[in-house]
Amino acid sequence: MIIFKTSAGLKNHLQKLRVSNTSTGFVPTMGALHGGHLALLKKSRQHAEITICSIFINPTQFNNPQDFKNYPVTIEEDIYLLEKNGCEILFVPDVNEIYPGKNFTYDRFELGYLETVLEGKYRPGHFQGVCQVVKRLLQIVDPTFLFAGQKDYQQCMVLKKLISLLESKAELVVCPTLREVDGLAMSSRNKRLNDNDRMKAPAIFQSLLLLQQDIKPGNLIQLKKSAEEFLVKKTFKLDYVEFANAENLALIDYWNGEDPVIVLVASYIKDIRLIDNLII
Ligand code: AMP
Repeated sequence: MIIFKTSAGLKNHLQKLRVSNTSTGFVPTMGALHGGHLALLKKSRQHAEITICSIFINPTQFNNPQDFKNYPVTIEEDIYLLEKNGCEILFVPDVNEIYPGKNFTYDRFELGYLETVLEGKYRPGHFQGVCQVVKRLLQIVDPTFLFAGQKDYQQCMVLKKLISLLESKAELVVCPTLREVDGLAMSSRNKRLNDNDRMKAPAIFQSLLLLQQDIKPGNLIQLKKSAEEFLVKKTFKLDYVEFANAENLALIDYWNGEDPVIVLVASYIKDIRLIDNLII
């Protein structure tokens, strides 16, 4: 695995690959790698001849400074895991590589409705930050394929929109959520859970399974309430439990029994915010 710290170095290397028409898969991450990230890497290795991973904890996508400060960093272990799992190129830029110059001008991305609901509503500015970093990374890497996880369902929709706004030729490949054996969606933030909280955390996925099991065409409000109560009883603090149309993320309180439905949860254990979703 070749590690690049500068965008110029990486660009130069990729330019040579482009001459020989080598397909590239790109897996952007914020590090503290886990099985979910490695599943994206594996998918990329199946699709593309060369896989590039990046590790960059992007300050502009954190609406909560404390969350940024507490974000886990395990760079040595990450490098070991990536190398062991066949990653060819790792990009580990520092903040000046991504946001060069004191007067770096931030773009404003027209994300429309997507920015007003769920993660957009509860994490103001988050998706602007995501778009800012991914735009820059796409400029540098210019990959054939871009890999992202369904765990961040709304983010995948934002990335799709960004790709079209940028008129990028990158093809977005969305990969299923990888879970621990007890159902907890793998997440870098899980590393911050103490033993007791780690035992509680699978309740998020359990609540999704209950909703999947009990959903019937008609009004969904009572069902939603039951999931909220289930989580609150287990001492979670909730941002939301919502049903939405899986195609456009329009929130729904009534299901006609036909539209594709997704249920999404965002909740806190202490100050650790965890999200999950299930397509029904
Ligand atoms: P992050 O490092 O959290 O920014 O995540 C980097 C990429 O990994 C994003 O596309 C995430 O959606 C994806 N990802 C995170 N957790 C999982 C998971 N449990 N299963 C699959 N993909 C994931």
